[in-house]
Amino acid sequence: MTCLFCKIAAGEIPANKVLDEPDLVAFHDLNPKAPVHVLVIPREHIANIAAAGPEQEALLGRLLLAGARVAAATGVRDSGFRLVLNAGPNAGQSVDHLHLHVLGGRSLGWPPG
Ligand code: 5GP
Ligand code: ZN
Repeated sequence: MTCLFCKIAAGEIPANKVLDEPDLVAFHDLNPKAPVHVLVIPREHIANIAAAGPEQEALLGRLLLAGARVAAATGVRDSGFRLVLNAGPNAGQSVDHLHLHVLGGRSLGWPPG
């Protein structure tokens, strides 16, 4: 297993976890871009949203809802937050294991850079 986020999900690489569930893990980003910056990942290795299929529909629904739960747990539900899925080079995806960014705690610019 060479994937960084598979290793974090398996506990082989430490991370500051927010959620640890049978099919999902959430942990604080190592290089946060906002006061709250958490990544939610499926334990299953999926490269990105473009590589997901209908068999992952329920899992992806749980991933989104977990993002909202993380926002509540980190205190940004009411002030507002952003959920981001980067896919591929133009989006700047740097880890090829699907991850949902939960960003909050400051005003977030739009459109993103
Ligand atoms: P991407 O650019 O692929 O959408 O997001 C990858 C994110 O993973 C980046 O925000 C980066 O800071 C974060 N990241 C990269 N390596 C590690 C790591 O080893 N631990 C944690 N917690 N976050 C990481
Ligand atoms: Zn992986």
